[in-house]
Amino acid sequence: MYGIAAIGEVMIELAPAPQDLKRLAYAGDTYNTAIYLARAGAPTSYVTHLGQDSHSDAILAELSQEQVATNLIKREPTRQPGLYIIHNRPDGEREFAYWRDHSAARLLFNNCDPDPSLLDMQMIYLSGISIAIISPEARERLHRFLSHYQQKGGKVVFDSNFRPRLWPDLGTAQATTERFLKLADIALLTLEDEQALWNEQDQDVTMARLLTYALPELVVKRGALPALVVHENTLNAVDVCQVKTVIDTTAAGDSFNAGYLAARYRGLGPELAVSEGARCAAAVIQHRGAIVPLLDYQASLAA
Ligand code: ADP
Repeated sequence: MYGIAAIGEVMIELAPAPQDLKRLAYAGDTYNTAIYLARAGAPTSYVTHLGQDSHSDAILAELSQEQVATNLIKREPTRQPGLYIIHNRPDGEREFAYWRDHSAARLLFNNCDPDPSLLDMQMIYLSGISIAIISPEARERLHRFLSHYQQKGGKVVFDSNFRPRLWPDLGTAQATTERFLKLADIALLTLEDEQALWNEQDQDVTMARLLTYALPELVVKRGALPALVVHENTLNAVDVCQVKTVIDTTAAGDSFNAGYLAARYRGLGPELAVSEGARCAAAVIQHRGAIVPLLDYQASLAA
């Protein structure tokens, strides 16, 4: 088995730039992870649907430039990538507006099973966003495929990445997310998202609930606080790198996941993998935007 496949949605991003302009980029949780996985040296493939427009061309070009395989990306003649615009509000908060309801990625697994070549991958990575954007039938198809993939020896990796706006109601979000989480061989969760999804305030309550799933490998990210790792029935708190000047935490969790999985792919244990994940995230949050230009990223990693 060889390589890691990330499944999900990439969107067009318009972010604030000087002089009231907007800067165009491409981003999305699983897309960000795929790019940082490839930068960490893991053979990576991205699975999504795009359109036949010039932005879809540019996304494919960026993936190829980043050494992410694109052969499992389908192109929809009548759809395009989704779009979001980031607006800096006068109170300093950032506001996100989305146009993604009819994006090409919404058609993932709509009429067909995931590509059988995915069965040869060592890991398949997906998130709560990947499952939120697809139809209930597509979720069933994906769930069935992932169970079969596990029987063949593949490892399913899941980050719950809860985005309330993508779900019709909280109950559906909880039931669907829990169903995919229970399937995971490796769960890379963020405390904040888990607490928002389940209306929990107390970390002990969240951890007690997560432990009931008896997941083989669980990491709970907590920003600058040590990450919690549960593996072989032991819980460890592992320090993450401290960053003096945090510029933008966009893609912190996504890049953490990439560093973690690339390290696990190389055979490192979960605790060392947390350090690798934290190193990637630390480099990313010292720059603006989800995908940090390669040279800036490498310079921050080396510092
Ligand atoms: P998410 O980005 O999914 O909300 P977190 O905020 O928990 O997730 O961040 C993911 C990882 O990014 C953390 O485990 C940590 O390694 C790193 N990170 C995030 N914020 C900080 C920070 N302020 N200082 C240092 N590291 C951070």
